[in-house]
Amino acid sequence: MNKNYIIEQLKKQIENFESSSKTEKVGTVLEIGDGVARVSGLGDVMASEMVEFPGGVIGVALNLEEDQIGVMILGDYKEIKEGDEVKSTGKILSVPVGDMMIGRVVSPLGEAIDGKGEIKSETYYPVEKVAPGVITRKSVSVPVQTGIKAIDAVIPVGRGQRELIIGDRQTGKTAVAIDTIINQKGQDLICIYVAIGQKESKIARIVAELEKRGAMEHTIMVVAGASDPAALSFISPYAGCAMGEYFLDKGKDVLIIYDDLSKHAWAYRQISLILRRPPGREAYPGDIFYLHSRLLERSARLNENYGGGSITALPIIETQAGDVSAYIPTNVISITDGQIYLETDLFYKGIRPALNVGLSVSRVGSSAQTKAMKKVAGKLRLDLAQFRELEAFSQFGSDLDENTRRQIERGRRTVEILKQDQYEPMPMQNQVAVLYALTNGFLDDVAVEKVKAWENDFHKYLKSNKNEVLEMIADRKELSEEVVKNLEKAIKEFKEVYQNGN
Ligand code: ATP
Ligand code: MG
Repeated sequence: MNKNYIIEQLKKQIENFESSSKTEKVGTVLEIGDGVARVSGLGDVMASEMVEFPGGVIGVALNLEEDQIGVMILGDYKEIKEGDEVKSTGKILSVPVGDMMIGRVVSPLGEAIDGKGEIKSETYYPVEKVAPGVITRKSVSVPVQTGIKAIDAVIPVGRGQRELIIGDRQTGKTAVAIDTIINQKGQDLICIYVAIGQKESKIARIVAELEKRGAMEHTIMVVAGASDPAALSFISPYAGCAMGEYFLDKGKDVLIIYDDLSKHAWAYRQISLILRRPPGREAYPGDIFYLHSRLLERSARLNENYGGGSITALPIIETQAGDVSAYIPTNVISITDGQIYLETDLFYKGIRPALNVGLSVSRVGSSAQTKAMKKVAGKLRLDLAQFRELEAFSQFGSDLDENTRRQIERGRRTVEILKQDQYEPMPMQNQVAVLYALTNGFLDDVAVEKVKAWENDFHKYLKSNKNEVLEMIADRKELSEEVVKNLEKAIKEFKEVYQNGN
């Protein structure tokens, strides 16, 4: 055989090899169902890369196997059929970010769904990003004021922290989150509420409430509804987080709520089972823990060299019959810096927010309280702890010594003061004022059933007659001798007016 001929043949083969590798950028749908497609011929896509189906429907590469990939489809998959062409894009899934997102209700892909016009953004952030490293971080010291007395006083949340809200259905989990958003009105915290797989009617009600209270002005709503594909639920928290990271990079403070991660885990389980990944505990795929930790690690407080911004996360988990030891709850408990535990029993007893003070903790919280709050909260915690211990005995009322009886009475009043209606977040200075009165015995002579009325009138009185005291607490944020003197005087004067009037 001629040497030249062989070289010729080899050259041809090399040429063919190159051209065939080019055609691999277009693959074929092998199988489609339930929002997930198996695609062949896209051997070189990256994990989380966007691929495009006919009609511009976007999918995300999830399972990368040798001869085929699994793609979850982020749009209407009913039109897609076997044999359709799929193009790879070479881009990791990204969402539009920017200031113009504030005040808007958007899909997890950043498209407007509030009918207020298209959102135009030149900046895109990838939905998956490596969390800020230890060197860039700073410890938590600035509070997120939720406006909820029981939380701000007993289990305070700091900026950059991850605090879990956990409880059975209908225990007021969403209410805690929404009140926290409302309480940020006129402050410097940008809020992102990610609704994951919730009924559209419920979401509409939340948007209406936020709008009514002027709280959409600092809020982005990212919505994957119950009727949307599971894939959208799955990416929604990452998309919301990416939108928050834009502000983090600008040195701003962000609060992000994932409502809820139980539904997020269900969505992921559904997708994984269709992709025939091996099911693990409770049929969840093995990497579900990593999935949530990767998300929550992205909350952080950066130090000044990195802009000083923060992302605080309030993930929500729904438990079944109070079972916090199930797989997903234990996972998320171990990832977060504490939990706000809400209980059905308390909720129906009328203790709302239905906070179980014994089981709720904030591991970094108290370093993020104002000095004023720290001072009153210390006593409050002690009162509550003693009350819980003694409460069981209180049924045998008659033989209690004077000291025990007094502690129980104080505890009952504390429980009353910590009750708080929905949509009524309270400024820090009012919280401090009433908790000071409580922990220093000014309510001991008020009948338990009158405590709430006393409190309402007290706040009204302060507002109209003693606003300067409230301002003093708000400005100085500590209970110096002078502040205490003025505050006690105000409380005593109010008591005189109140007792004469009643
Ligand atoms: P789901 O499991 O359905 O998501 P959830 O735990 O998020 O429920 P919410 O929807 O926040 O609970 O609240 C349940 C009900 O309790 C709502 O009707 C809400 O208005 C009411 N509620 C919540 N918090 C309070 C409160 N502090 N005072 C009075 N009512 C409240
Ligand atoms: Mg809810």
